[in-house]
Amino acid sequence: MRVAIIGAGLAGLSCALTLEKHGIIPDIYEQFDRCGGRVPFIICLLQLIHRPVPDPLVDLNINYGINIRPINPLKKIIRFSPNKMARSEGQLGYIFEMGPSSRSITSQLCEQLSARIKFNTVAGLNQLLPDYDRVVVATGSPNLAKELGLWTDVFRCWVRGAVVEGDFDPSAWVIWFNKTYFNNGYAYLAPFSSKKASLVTIISDVLEKDLETHWQMFLDTEKIEYREKESFILEHISGVCHQKEIGKTILTGNSAALMEAVFGFGLYNAVISGVMAAQAIIENTSYEEKIAFLNKKLHQSILLRRRLNAFKDRNYDQLLEVFNIPPLNHLIYNTNLDILKHHAIFSELISDKL
Ligand SMILES: Cc1cc2nc3c(=O)[nH]c(=O)nc-3n(C[C@H](O)[C@H](O)[C@H](O)COP(=O)(O)OP(=O)(O)OC[C@H]3O[C@@H](n4cnc5c(N)ncnc54)[C@H](O)[C@@H]3O)c2cc1C
Repeated sequence: MRVAIIGAGLAGLSCALTLEKHGIIPDIYEQFDRCGGRVPFIICLLQLIHRPVPDPLVDLNINYGINIRPINPLKKIIRFSPNKMARSEGQLGYIFEMGPSSRSITSQLCEQLSARIKFNTVAGLNQLLPDYDRVVVATGSPNLAKELGLWTDVFRCWVRGAVVEGDFDPSAWVIWFNKTYFNNGYAYLAPFSSKKASLVTIISDVLEKDLETHWQMFLDTEKIEYREKESFILEHISGVCHQKEIGKTILTGNSAALMEAVFGFGLYNAVISGVMAAQAIIENTSYEEKIAFLNKKLHQSILLRRRLNAFKDRNYDQLLEVFNIPPLNHLIYNTNLDILKHHAIFSELISDKL
């Protein structure tokens, strides 16, 4: 059987590894000259998002056969709203590197692969379809689903980020919420090491040309003075993809809108969708059915995103006050309560009605 995979990111490589385990060597097309793109950044696997799964990293390994190593455990989350601060500690998840380095997730997956990747090749679906039995789209982009009329936007924003140098806690994730700089987005600082970190702003309802002003306003007001190294700007779109299997074509990861809509987390679902695409191809079964269980969580994240879009700055302050009540902080961060499922209850604790 001839299988093509467009994109050597998390979904594409997870699909390729699973196919290989079953004796199918796919052709993998990647637009860049290496796995992981050009810009390094940090991503987190936050246990809270994936509940009731007790440990999403173990889950990916045991239940999906994908083995990836974090660079550090995530043990501390510090949140700032305009007038409040809240801190949570515990076994909160994992910190991973993305990008060109040999430590990045994509480099780790590439190392496990036998198939050779066709680098520097921008592949198009229509060009590949005549030559392959199945084509897996793993481009990380909504473009194809949009062209096919299968996509509805949920949350659009710009991401302006940089690698920064300074002194950092290697297991802490710092988050800022503030409508003045980010509108309905947020910012985070997450460490590569004790000397290097990713500083990333996610800004909604802004023109690309005004991004720099927002970035600078954030740095100046919060008195952030790290040395900025490589920077990047990209558009971030979460949405709903109404059909993910179209004839011989399978959409995975971000191309299938499998990134959740609150923080833009998509690692876990990208890996699972890649594995499920491979299994559906091997077994000749329905891919849509295999990934249907992801839809409930994605829907919950859309509901929470809508609530967050209605937040004012004072609501973020109130939310952080909730996190500062020790039993609630414990319940939210140190148990296995499915917060996404029950988020409405926590929103009700915020006094003015949204
Ligand atoms: C700054 C940032 C921070 C993030 N933080 C988190 C986080 O903390 N936690 C989390 O879970 N998720 C996070 N995410 C989201 C997560 O990285 C994505 O959801 C995940 O990488 C999606 O995987 P994918 O395989 O669908 O796409 P990608 O990983 O984007 O891979 C797509 C690949 O396809 C290639 N490609 C595209 N078009 C073509 C073409 N036509 N031909 C050939 N190759 C092509 C690209 O070059 C790329 O290598 C973050 C994303 C960003 C950008």
